[in-house]
Amino acid sequence: MKISPIILKLDVRGFPQSWITWQEAVGLYVRDRVAWQIGNQDFRVHGGYSRITLCHSEVEINSIIAVKGKCTIHTGYKVVPGLNNAELFRRDRHMCLYCGQIYKDKLLTRDHVIPRSLGGIDRWSNVVTACRRCNVAKGGRTPEQANMKLLAIPFTPNRAEFLALKNRKIFADQMDFLKKQFNHTQMMDFS
Ligand SMILES: [Zn+2]
Repeated sequence: MKISPIILKLDVRGFPQSWITWQEAVGLYVRDRVAWQIGNQDFRVHGGYSRITLCHSEVEINSIIAVKGKCTIHTGYKVVPGLNNAELFRRDRHMCLYCGQIYKDKLLTRDHVIPRSLGGIDRWSNVVTACRRCNVAKGGRTPEQANMKLLAIPFTPNRAEFLALKNRKIFADQMDFLKKQFNHTQMMDFS
């Protein structure tokens, strides 16, 4: 296989869970854990190793698979995804939300809208992408105090949005599936 597809794993109800490697997907097929599949693409892979028959087999894995049994993300969309700069910058499309300029990751910072020194919390709804200059200019003040208007309201991505932010090699069918479960369609309009 020339490419190494990343597979979108769902729970049996269709809630997105995580990205898994094709090797992990093979394991799920071999252990008969795949309940259904809904992607447009199948990848034929060799080397699915059966511990029962002790031989290598050929397995077809789908780009989107739903897995039987208990899911790891129990409450679907209520789980707040972990905050990190890579996904934060992608959420804000690498744009400083104060001056509106687009920057490379290394020139961007995480700005706390309500500064931590004023009790602001380190969570999605209180952080935005800011260039270094704007972050320094704002200092330990709120946007109102600094007279710096925010260009967008920071939002907490739901699971589908977070997974879309996390994977830069999403297949079109996976993106289409995730998009149906976006809450912030306009802001998440990247490809
Ligand atoms: Zn800026």
